[in-house]
Amino acid sequence: MKKKLGLILFLVLSLVLTACGGAGNSSQSQEPVASASPSAPASEAEAASSEAPAASGGELIMATEAGFAPYEYYSGSDIVGVDVDIAKEIAAEMGKTLKVVDMEFGAIIPTVDAGKADFGAAGMSITEERKEQVDFTIEYATSKQVIVVAKDSAIKGPADLGGKTVGVQLGTTGDLVLADEYPDVTLKQYNKFFDATNDLINKRIDAIVVDSLPAQEIVKTSENLVILDEELLIDKYAFCVKKGNTELLDTINKVMQRLVDEGKIDEYTLSHSA
Ligand code: GLN
Repeated sequence: MKKKLGLILFLVLSLVLTACGGAGNSSQSQEPVASASPSAPASEAEAASSEAPAASGGELIMATEAGFAPYEYYSGSDIVGVDVDIAKEIAAEMGKTLKVVDMEFGAIIPTVDAGKADFGAAGMSITEERKEQVDFTIEYATSKQVIVVAKDSAIKGPADLGGKTVGVQLGTTGDLVLADEYPDVTLKQYNKFFDATNDLINKRIDAIVVDSLPAQEIVKTSENLVILDEELLIDKYAFCVKKGNTELLDTINKVMQRLVDEGKIDEYTLSHSA
């Protein structure tokens, strides 16, 4: 009888724990604020700015642009990806709940700078210009700006871009390098790579310039697209925090270094690229 009672107690307990979502690890929860549609109009920055001040209570707020698989993307109404996996580890280290807020890429740095989010994580490349606005963590990935074209395109490399219409996501390093170094390219700036991809598929533009792993995800969506071998630029990813927030910067760096050393970042990348 005692045994039976114990068994029932065990079953009830495990049910309760399962219902609580995995043994009460609160750092695993997240509340994406934006609409689940990757092409939704980007009023998300407003949603972010109406949030409570950063780091109030037990929340750690991450600002991102969730149209950038494998780093951040929607799985149903959840935002998941390599950056989210890293951020969960940081939140766990701090004993906080991670909240992921989706917005336009260009809104991330102003949001972090205004203290409306604790950090930005968006496959964001370290640039000198951005370093003047925010502090960057250690690097956790190396990327390239690559060209995606239709298989039958006459564009075979960066040298063929002259006179062509090229789509980029507004404010990204792809946008900046084309504007600076390719004056005879007609730039078409999009709020979402998703819309640039649609225009490329429908031949409204000739190419897009995007980071290499997101490019691999993009070519998976259409068998008529290819990634060209020669890149425009090599860049390094980091998270960013408000200038002078050394306490958070140190914590993130500590967790990030551990994840790099343990090979976790590679693991996360593989698991989100499958
Ligand atoms: N790595 C690029 C940048 O930092 C693109 C990032 C993104 O579009 N999420 O500008």
